Amino acid sequence: MRTDYESNTGVMHSRLEREARTVGAMVAIYCRGRHGTKDGLCPDCRELLAYSLARLEKCRFREEKPNCADCPVHCYKPSMREKVREVMRYAGPRMVLRHPILALFHILNGLKRPPDIHGRD
Ligand SMILES: [Zn+2]
Repeated sequence: MRTDYESNTGVMHSRLEREARTVGAMVAIYCRGRHGTKDGLCPDCRELLAYSLARLEKCRFREEKPNCADCPVHCYKPSMREKVREVMRYAGPRMVLRHPILALFHILNGLKRPPDIHGRD
């Protein structure tokens, strides 16, 4: 289900596309800040991002997907989940300054209740 707010913007086409951009932006902020990478991502962060995007593509909720932090399904393997949480912790507050629109969507989406996983496929 889409809210009017989302469908009226027309900038971000889909929930998943926006999530992918958000994750990419966050990993980039994290890698630059923590690993001192000047251009692109270091091999570790590239692997993490590739993993995240692959999980995202397979996400069962598709357009109804909640933010990963609120999701009732934990599809990340533990080592990757730890890494991604660290990235979120570091990049979350910085997103508001660098990517205010993406951060806003992310916050708004966090206010929605996660979908009910029962009785669904
Ligand atoms: Zn890195």
